[in-house]
Parts: sequence; C-alpha cells; structure tokens
Amino acid sequence: MTKNSMISSTSSLLETKNSMASKVKNRPVIGGIQHKECTKCYEVKPLGDFFNCKKSLFGKTSKCKSCIKGLSEPKRDQKRDYDRQRRLENQDAIRRYDRYRYRRDKEKRTALAKRWARKNPEKRRAICRKYEHKNKGKYVFYSRSKQMRRCQATPKWLTPEQLDQIEMLYILADSFTRITGIKHHVDHIHPIKGNGVRGLHVPWNLQILSQSENCSKSNKFDGTFENLTWRQEL
Ligand SMILES: [Zn+2]
Repeated sequence: MTKNSMISSTSSLLETKNSMASKVKNRPVIGGIQHKECTKCYEVKPLGDFFNCKKSLFGKTSKCKSCIKGLSEPKRDQKRDYDRQRRLENQDAIRRYDRYRYRRDKEKRTALAKRWARKNPEKRRAICRKYEHKNKGKYVFYSRSKQMRRCQATPKWLTPEQLDQIEMLYILADSFTRITGIKHHVDHIHPIKGNGVRGLHVPWNLQILSQSENCSKSNKFDGTFENLTWRQEL
C-alpha cells in the first residue's frame, strides 16, 4: 500500500466514523429512550431491541433482534454445524486457549460472577441444583473425599491420576444408578472403619456395589484380600 492510498483510506475511514457519529447523535429520542433504525425492516425501535455487539462502532448490531432471530434460522443452523465441526477438529488448541483466557481474566471473571450471584440468589440456587443433579457422582466424590481426609484414610502419596480414577468410580456408580434405576454405591473392599482392619481410600480398595449388596456387606471383613464371604450370605 502506497503512502497516498493509505492516507486516503484512513481519511475515508474517518469520514465514515464521523458520519456514523453524527447518526448516533441524531438518533431519535422517544419517551426519553434512544431509538435506532433497523437496516433490515427499517423500523425505528428502542436501543434495547438491538443486540449488543462489541465489533460494531457504537456497540449495537445494525439489524434489530427480531430480524436477526427471524431471518437467519437456516444460517444459524449452518453456523452451529460449522462451529461444532471446528471445535471437534481443533479440540486441543481450543481447550488450551480457553484455559489461557480463563487464567488471564480470572480475577475479573470471578468478580463478575460473584456480583451476579449476589444480585440473583434465586437463579444461582437453581443453577447449582441443576448442576448438582446432573453431576451427582462428582458431588458424592467431593463429600466422600472430605470425610476420608478427616479420618485420614486418603494417603498423601496418591498421584493426581489415582485421584482421577477414584472420581471416575463415583461418576460410574452414579451412571449405573441412572441406567439401572437401582441405587449403586462405591464401597471400600477393606472397610475404612472395620473390626480390626483399616482400609484406605485408594482406587484398588474401591468397588461399585448395588445398595442392597453394600448394606449386607456393611463393614464386614473376612480376612482375605477379595473379602467376598459376605456375598455367600446374600
Ligand atoms: Zn428489524
């Protein structure tokens, strides 16, 4: 790009910006609310009827909400499919970038989230309840982990992978419950508080049992590694 063409392009940019600014200044004000003309249906509507858009010069989309929602259903489907495909193809890179962005804006994000939570306690509770219901296994894992730490059953030398394995077992047990309709528990093969034995909260001491099996096992220990005699009593 030559110097002259650069100057002309910047000046034309400036011109558009100035003309836009004058348009914004001359926006009709009805009942104390600024209005704006939609470029699709040419109706003059209050600013609230336009989506926020950081990219556009004055922070609002040029088409009104109903035009954007109405006109572009096939286009939206197309975009959704494209986004999904792109996410699948670049999963790792996108996840890395998401993580980077989360770390970069962590303080800002947490502050915003906290402010929102203070303003909307009811909504927050509903969201938490929904999340808890969806991820019951995780919640059980967290609460059990806390208990196990308190009674010093979780060794400090467990690796992160082994902790993940434990979490996975709790999530699996919850999945079994959902699929079969029968409550499933994660049980300690060697009981944590058995008579004369002290099992650990480690992946190889855990098994998934149905509720009835778990109750009849209770905290029995038969002295063998498999600890299975209780099964014969079923
Ligand atoms: Zn419109």
